Amino acid sequence: MATRFEDGIVVTLGENNRVLWNAAVVTDGERIAALGDSSEMKRRFPDAKPVDCSGKIILPGFICTHHHFYSTMARGMGIPGEPAENFVQILERLWWKVDRALDEESILLSAQLPLIDCLRNGTTTIIDHHASPSMRDGSLDLIEKAVRQAGLRASLCYEVSDRNVPGGGIEENERFIKKVGKGDGQISAMMGLHASFTVSDETAEKCVDIARDAGVGCHIHVAEDAADREDSLAKFNMPTVKRLDKLGLTGEKSIFVHCVHVDDAEMDILAATNTTVVHNPESNMNNAVGVTPLLKLLKKGVLVGLGTDGMGSDMLVQMRCAYLLHRLANHDPRVAFMEAPQLLLQNNAEIARRQFGLRLGEIAEGRPADLAIIDYQPPTPLSEANFLGHLIFGLVDATVDTTVCKGKILMQGKKILSLDEDRLAARSRELAPQMWKRLQDL
Ligand SMILES: [Zn+2]
Repeated sequence: MATRFEDGIVVTLGENNRVLWNAAVVTDGERIAALGDSSEMKRRFPDAKPVDCSGKIILPGFICTHHHFYSTMARGMGIPGEPAENFVQILERLWWKVDRALDEESILLSAQLPLIDCLRNGTTTIIDHHASPSMRDGSLDLIEKAVRQAGLRASLCYEVSDRNVPGGGIEENERFIKKVGKGDGQISAMMGLHASFTVSDETAEKCVDIARDAGVGCHIHVAEDAADREDSLAKFNMPTVKRLDKLGLTGEKSIFVHCVHVDDAEMDILAATNTTVVHNPESNMNNAVGVTPLLKLLKKGVLVGLGTDGMGSDMLVQMRCAYLLHRLANHDPRVAFMEAPQLLLQNNAEIARRQFGLRLGEIAEGRPADLAIIDYQPPTPLSEANFLGHLIFGLVDATVDTTVCKGKILMQGKKILSLDEDRLAARSRELAPQMWKRLQDL
């Protein structure tokens, strides 16, 4: 049945962004059937179900190109011992214990709750990176179940590393990639690897073989901390990107997350191989690992997207963080105004196209019906010419009212319709202390 989201401000995004006042978007099934002046849409689609969007702005649903659902239950947890003083200690004392403490029910809840956050923030497509060594096989099916319940789109993978058992996780990826096949537009699969410093050549080669045969990309953390670069230089006598390129991990469908510690020659490899980089500014600041050379990567023609790295699911907040970080890091108040929104609005859409084969990120006839409808009364004139000013300084603090994915209304009037938030959060509060207890003994 068709739905008319009407009487709002429609921002189409895409190559020729248009801002349409008193406008409507009509969805029919999983696609956008039409958009334009509200009165015209009412005349053309009189039988469509109306949804009042007055006082609201209608945008394409947001895309997050690097997330870790599994990190959910670490929120508020105390970490015993001395505070971690560097990135590797953060992994050893926190994340490599959190993932080992996950069991079947906590994996499912750890996905359902951030998916609720995604719904609350209008994030309709997520590329996730999962780890749960104690309950590895079948874990991606649990996350798939949660994503389908939520009604959102996600690309899933399992984080292969040699840190628990050599090549741990290869089979789970292979099984899931085969199961998903070319994907159905809602779920897709990648070959996940943790990072260069936790995978041997042999493990990486096995992953590349499977990914190549299936036509999927590799999703791996790259040079997040200087330790990853130093490890690669010490063991293989070459920096991280060069090593991974030699092993065959680069390519159009692959995602190299972070790339904080990369040199000019490595950036050239990323550009030449059309490998995607995903920038996660909040996470980099939180772990104090350094600043991705974002402006240089973009200048060299590297496709750089924006992720949260599990810090949250609000992409507008992440976009503004990128904007602020790169102004400060470059000591230049002229930069990042165009670039930070570009990562989120254009580049993430291109990355999603490579993973899902869908043209997301634009409100246009025939495109997937994924929408974020946000409470926003512009206090100053709003048009195509100054949209980014409203995005960075206004919309970032506005509240998402309605979230639509695949033409289905999943949240309306701030009420989550596809998942039972109260019940899931209550159960998670019960389970989290048990998980924290298990974790103390690891
Ligand atoms: Zn990550």
